[in-house]
Amino acid sequence: MNCLFCRIAAGELPAKLIHEDDALVAFHDVNPQAPVHVLVVPRRHVASLAELAAGDDGEDAALGAALLAAASTVARAEGLAAPGRGYRVVANTGPQGGQSVEHLHLHVLGGRDLSWPPG
Ligand code: 5GP
Ligand code: ZN
Repeated sequence: MNCLFCRIAAGELPAKLIHEDDALVAFHDVNPQAPVHVLVVPRRHVASLAELAAGDDGEDAALGAALLAAASTVARAEGLAAPGRGYRVVANTGPQGGQSVEHLHLHVLGGRDLSWPPG
């Protein structure tokens, strides 16, 4: 298996895991762009959000919902859901979307004021 996030999800490469279940893992980004920067990654290899959207068997929809719910759980656990705080969930998709790892992942960013638009 030659995919970085498949290998992290399988425990073959180290990561600072903060959440895992049957469908997904969540771990700290190695190059954080905010005080909290967590990646939520499905165990199943899906290349990008574009691939997930292409599925119509219900399984992909369930995985998408699980990823979003995990992002919310992680954000709450990291203190980002407290009053006056907040966070951003991002799925960079494709070359122009800034995706560098071709395995679907959600970024959960928070702990500072986040600019908008993102540039
Ligand atoms: P993308 O650019 O594809 O949206 O995001 C990929 C993210 O993966 C980047 O934020 C990058 O810092 C992170 N990343 C790349 N390699 C590793 C790694 O080996 N371990 C961890 N924890 N994060 C990584
Ligand atoms: Zn993969």
